[in-house]
Amino acid sequence: MNDDLADFLAGSIHSIPDYPKPGIIFRDITTLLANGKAFAAAIDSLVGPWRNVEVAQVVGIEARGFVIAGAMALELGCGFTAVRKKGKLPRDTHSVTYELEYGRDEVEIHADALSKGDKVLLVDDLIATGGTAFAAVELMDRLEAEILEVGFIVDLPELGGSERLREKGIGVRTLVNFEGH
Ligand code: AMP
Repeated sequence: MNDDLADFLAGSIHSIPDYPKPGIIFRDITTLLANGKAFAAAIDSLVGPWRNVEVAQVVGIEARGFVIAGAMALELGCGFTAVRKKGKLPRDTHSVTYELEYGRDEVEIHADALSKGDKVLLVDDLIATGGTAFAAVELMDRLEAEILEVGFIVDLPELGGSERLREKGIGVRTLVNFEGH
């Protein structure tokens, strides 16, 4: 990732202090998506090494991950698969519960969405603690899909999620680092 591109992308992301609660700086990537050049550059960087690889599906995590994964899938000429919050998918699902700072959440995928050995890219807008990403990784494991890489536009490295994924031997691509929570 070159520094100029990282700076350009970082500059297109709006930061809102103390949202949704005191101490959190919300990194709003909707302003990056609204900037055609920034959106295209982010998608180009995320699909970069995978253009000549047979990717079965790009899997996006609800909700901002959907926009990124959909654009990547079109770029790669493959399909898009959704990892959704509990209760939104109409057919048989696998589900994984994970801990949040306060409480728990659950993500689901259709049980027939992926086949054993499918090579997938998993995508979300941002990784913080990695709780959401790890839950999605577990869904990929349940369906025996092969994760080529997990991609995020934003990494909050101090929260350790991207490092924990790498420690597990999973390839991680992030485009912009921000300090803090
Ligand atoms: P985590 O599970 O802790 O890695 O949190 C990642 C999920 O929460 C992603 O889906 C993000 O969209 C959202 N998120 C967490 N922290 C932030 C933040 N500071 N700004 C924007 N979104 C965040």
